[in-house]
Amino acid sequence: MKNSLQPESQMMSFGYKPELSEGAIKPPMFLTSTFVFKTAQEGKSFFEVAYGLREKKDQEDLGLIYSRINNPNLQILEERLCLWNREDDCAMFESGMAAISTVFLEFLKPGDLLVYSMPTYGGTSHFIEDYLTRQGVQSIAVRATDSFEEVVAKVESSGRKAQLKLIYLETPANPTNDLFDIRLYKKIADHFSTKEATVSLAVDNTYMGPLWSNPIEHGADLVIYSATKFIGGHSDVIAGAVLGKAELLHRLKVMRTFLGNMASPHTCWLLIRSLETLKVRLEQQARNAQKIADALKDDPRVEKVSFLGHLEPGSKSHTIYSQQYSSAGTMISFELKGGEEEAFRFLNSLKLIKLAVSLGSTESLVQLPAAMTHIGMSKEARAQMGISDKLIRLSVGIEHADDLLLDILNGISQSFTEVK
Ligand SMILES: *Cc1c(COP(=O)(O)O)cnc(C)c1O
Repeated sequence: MKNSLQPESQMMSFGYKPELSEGAIKPPMFLTSTFVFKTAQEGKSFFEVAYGLREKKDQEDLGLIYSRINNPNLQILEERLCLWNREDDCAMFESGMAAISTVFLEFLKPGDLLVYSMPTYGGTSHFIEDYLTRQGVQSIAVRATDSFEEVVAKVESSGRKAQLKLIYLETPANPTNDLFDIRLYKKIADHFSTKEATVSLAVDNTYMGPLWSNPIEHGADLVIYSATKFIGGHSDVIAGAVLGKAELLHRLKVMRTFLGNMASPHTCWLLIRSLETLKVRLEQQARNAQKIADALKDDPRVEKVSFLGHLEPGSKSHTIYSQQYSSAGTMISFELKGGEEEAFRFLNSLKLIKLAVSLGSTESLVQLPAAMTHIGMSKEARAQMGISDKLIRLSVGIEHADDLLLDILNGISQSFTEVK
């Protein structure tokens, strides 16, 4: 089954046996903390596998013990998420930040060195710069424009190159759509890996996966998602995921068992439902985004549009884009003529598009990073990254493109009529 059908054909049934649930066509929500063993021998055998005292036999599933370790909703969801890009294994968490912080906690210890891409999600950079720094983990920020030699030089000059354990990329970066070359960082990971210690490469693929980008194919060891965004897709759940190689996922799941930050049955149930429509949602969102980005680009009142579908052929970004992504995605950043005041007027006059942070949902969402998600950063740091006071971030939903366009064009007119 697993190899013959496309993922979207399997999202409605894979990994679920109706006969184990009174014939229910959909998996019920397994609201149970613990599971009854048939016999004491079975309980022993389940624990042997859970604690790594023996390998699983062929075709043997991890027996159900306790919902912090496993639960049918968790297991079905993890198996289905692996189908899109055929990773070995998946671990679901109660938030994207739980997924990200658990990766850092498992793969870094005091004294280690971390290389991470800038800009990165606010919660991620806070965890690195505040918590990890306090724990004695040193970190080096890299930019999309840095070359192989520049990154190698930064690592060498830290004096801790032997302690480099993890490279963490978020690409495309938020809200600028900067692209990081995963293959380049795989080369850097290999360059600093030794027989004793390998450098792992983790990629936050929230913006483009699992449909349009498969970081593993380019050399990543771990792929991370805020499943709150496109995977959940309805702005009604917070969740996270990590996928990748079996041995790394095993370590991460052990860590998760003891941190206790696994996704709950309800969270998993919602996401199982979301996965059925993942592809149709994302494709419609991407079609809408292309139309809106094109219209914005042609509007003289718009100063600048950043959209992956508009990259200059032959540019470095375009080369990375063609290699790593199969769609321009659904995220647009743009600036209207004027300043923060005009941007505020635009945002306040939108009717259909909602003014809220987050992204990747069925409804279109808009926000002003400098005044909202990135307000904690210094103005200079924002300027360096191309986040001006008037940069608007738009996450395009599944509404009718004409309605979205009308809302945007009305908003732009409102933004300018009052200045005159
Ligand atoms: C939202 C987001 C996160 C954090 O995820 P939560 O589910 O909110 O914890 C991490 N990375 C990226 C790229 C995000 O957009």
